[in-house]
Amino acid sequence: MTIDSVLTSIDSNLDASLARLFDLLKIRSISTDPAFKDECARAASWLADQLNGMGFDASVRATTGNPMVVAHAKSTNASAPHVLFYGHYDVQPVDPLALWEDDPFAPKIVEAEGTKRIVARGAADDKGQVMAFVEACRAFMANGGLPCHVSILFEGEEECGSLSLPAFLAANRQELLADCVLVCDTNMWDKNTPAITTMLRGLVLQEVVIEAASRDLHSGLFGGAAMNPIRVLTRILADLHDANGAVTLPGFYDGVDELPAEVAAQWRALDFDEAAYLGAVGLGEAAGEKGRSVLEQVWSRPTCDVNGIIGGYTGEGTKTVLPSRASAKVSFRLVGHQDPLRIVESFHAFVQARLPSDCTASFHAHGASPAIALPFTSPMLQKARVALTAEWDREAVLIGGGGSIPVIGQFKRDLGMDSLMIGFGLDDDRIHSPNEKYEVKSFHKGARSWARVLVALAE
Ligand SMILES: [Zn+2]
Repeated sequence: MTIDSVLTSIDSNLDASLARLFDLLKIRSISTDPAFKDECARAASWLADQLNGMGFDASVRATTGNPMVVAHAKSTNASAPHVLFYGHYDVQPVDPLALWEDDPFAPKIVEAEGTKRIVARGAADDKGQVMAFVEACRAFMANGGLPCHVSILFEGEEECGSLSLPAFLAANRQELLADCVLVCDTNMWDKNTPAITTMLRGLVLQEVVIEAASRDLHSGLFGGAAMNPIRVLTRILADLHDANGAVTLPGFYDGVDELPAEVAAQWRALDFDEAAYLGAVGLGEAAGEKGRSVLEQVWSRPTCDVNGIIGGYTGEGTKTVLPSRASAKVSFRLVGHQDPLRIVESFHAFVQARLPSDCTASFHAHGASPAIALPFTSPMLQKARVALTAEWDREAVLIGGGGSIPVIGQFKRDLGMDSLMIGFGLDDDRIHSPNEKYEVKSFHKGARSWARVLVALAE
């Protein structure tokens, strides 16, 4: 078996591959609406049938929600690495239906803006991305066998919170353990430039409540003598950043590494238009750490933001009140190896240290998850990068991610596995929106790319 015969097989079977993808796209596997529960089960069965037909050992596994599909196939090379591929077969609801140009579950190919596009709900998120990998496996299995041992996990609740996933991972830990996870739910940098997402920021959510007097007071009778908790709160919040936009919490930047010079240079070379990015939302000046590019500010640097402030009288007209309490919702986006619990402790200490004697502070936690960071030196990352560069004839860029993908954290935390995030979606695929599409080129070259990645990982 050579990679060439596999790539040729992918090319010559493109029409049949698209027909199979269309069969999956016709299944109305909307997970958030119980009315489509049977359709979700049908999508799971369809996938298991396809995988069994190719030579996988695949099964549909019941959960308390929609079923999982688990499949395994061995490489002919016993010492080959073992990968676990993760994707989801469920889709978002289609409303508002009136904004679709056609039936969301009647997939078709449309030519627009010089490209051929598959238009249907789930085309990009995630059925097209899933089937690109499945078709790559099919080409190997029809041409001598897989270069890696491949396990597959498809879930049907990604679009509604993955409620069954943690228990399923825990109960099937041994069966799902592999050398790494391949995740396809991500995008290219642009339509010609492949990308590997190597970092997703973590998130710490805190609410702080500051209380002073035992009841609300009249500002004529007590103003001047009584401490106003809004004054205390706003001073503390203002202290969280210095004049250069850096966060002032002690220890906040522990675990935040500088980008390797090579990656920093790659990001600078991307044709990212900072003015357009900010201008599109009516802004003209980046607000993060001075001296950092916008891409660094949103991908590789941590943040602190106040998401809400509550206190005092906020109704019509005026009221001369000195409130007895004031509160704020504060969030931190984390990167690298920042420890969420240490950030929480540092924030609490920061507030406590600034409290006047008549004030108390209490805190409510609303979640704390670390960042996902695949080390730039990871061999699998380097191998995948070379493979993608060969397919696209353009250097694969290592990017950060905007939205979080909670399952990646679960794979890391519960199974100790790193994830390689490679996807062929584009920013204009309109996922979750009417007229969702996936480029035929993304599907076709996506399958070819996965074939090259699997060969590279086995080397
Ligand atoms: Zn989605």
